[in-house]
Amino acid sequence: MNISDTEIAWSILQKAGYSRTHELPEADVVLLVTCSIREKAEQTIWNRLKHLTALKKRCQKHKPLLKIGVLGCMAERLKTKLLEQEKLVDVLAGPDAYRDLPRLLSLGYRGQRASNVLLSLEETYADVMPVHQTPEGHSAFVSIMRGCDNMCSYCIVPFTRGRERSRPLSSILEEVRMLSDQGVKEVTLLGQNVNSYRDFSEQHFICSEGSTQLSRGFKTVYRTKQGGLLFSDLLDKVSQIDPDMRIRFTSPHPKDFPDEVLQLIQERRNICKQIHLPAQSGSSRVLHAMRRGYTREAYLDLVENIREIIPGVNLSSDFITGFCGETEEDHQETLSLVREVGYNVGFLFAYSMRKKTHAYHRLQDDVPAPVKQRRLEELISVFREEAAKVNMALIGSTQLVLVEGESKRSSEELCGRNDGNVKVVFPKTDLPIQPEKPQMVPITSGDYVLVKVNYGQHDNKIELIWLCLLSLVVNPAAGF
Ligand code: SF4
Repeated sequence: MNISDTEIAWSILQKAGYSRTHELPEADVVLLVTCSIREKAEQTIWNRLKHLTALKKRCQKHKPLLKIGVLGCMAERLKTKLLEQEKLVDVLAGPDAYRDLPRLLSLGYRGQRASNVLLSLEETYADVMPVHQTPEGHSAFVSIMRGCDNMCSYCIVPFTRGRERSRPLSSILEEVRMLSDQGVKEVTLLGQNVNSYRDFSEQHFICSEGSTQLSRGFKTVYRTKQGGLLFSDLLDKVSQIDPDMRIRFTSPHPKDFPDEVLQLIQERRNICKQIHLPAQSGSSRVLHAMRRGYTREAYLDLVENIREIIPGVNLSSDFITGFCGETEEDHQETLSLVREVGYNVGFLFAYSMRKKTHAYHRLQDDVPAPVKQRRLEELISVFREEAAKVNMALIGSTQLVLVEGESKRSSEELCGRNDGNVKVVFPKTDLPIQPEKPQMVPITSGDYVLVKVNYGQHDNKIELIWLCLLSLVVNPAAGF
């Protein structure tokens, strides 16, 4: 989301006449796009701010107008502390106030500390075409909604990013078409809760048939929404724009996976067969305390249903260890859930309590830090074992890989990702453009290559790296 927010803020600033530099000493304005989801993310920004403030003092003579700004969730959460107590920043803009950046900066130049952290019920930046800035230019994030209504008891997002609202379908389609024209090969639809997407814009409000899209056994803390265009409508339309453009989405909530969405993922060859399914815990008791709206059993039923409709699908997840009241037994249930499901990627964190949340007001952060850490390490280790099994099963298979660029390990190797989002590393070589033609071409980022997986090894991370042999696919349809 922060990458996407940066692209939106940058588009607004570009229109106001600002140009971008990647060299800090050249900058007249330094803006940090921030995250409040965990204590550690905020600490990183505090350190960065102190470093920047020291730099500003040192540069006072030759750069008297240097301005420092904080955008996003930390601006929303810590306005007074940032602006009035610590006096570390000149400009603050919350996630719904990026349109106001040019005005805030101009106030900053007049010597005022300026801020706008108002949250909106409508702002989706639908008419702002983001300035996409992926290094290789072949993949892009497209924001489809903002905010969240779920109010999970540990989560600060509903307080920093506001209520859930979806960007109109027409504006999403326009952006995806533009990206396709620019040669982008992979789009990730982005939001806090992408699969609860509902476009209520005027022309669609009456014609919708969707009354509910909840997965079986799941419930919400808010009244079920009615009408509007649903996530399945969006996926359907987006995936038809360019059949050679891969479609991914993140982050979904398990509650919004009705069969229509799953069947569409199965049917469309360009919608990746990889689903992020944040579980957070394997214990129904802890899930209840987290206010996730499902039990372990309902989650496992959903996994079974997904695997029935999309055989071979890759699943990834998020987990929190040491949430309020989590016992050893609860922790063991989480480990057993990870073993039972077999994810190939995981985002695993020790719980850190955030002010304003339901847990902060009502629950006790009673799991000692060393216990949280130990449970996290155990979870990582089980995750790695299971991910290794999932990825090792690819040995001997042929995978369609979208090339990202040079591998970090060697300039003699390239890397990319398969449909299931597994990283693949293979030798850099020229290939015949078509099997029957002798003309050889180098493989470049944005190409699709067919890769025979013949070797797998552990990376430092949870995923595996593959060393492979391959052929170049001019028309990806041949490779699906
Ligand atoms: S679904 Fe829960 S965890 Fe995710 S953003 Fe919303 S409140 Fe936070």
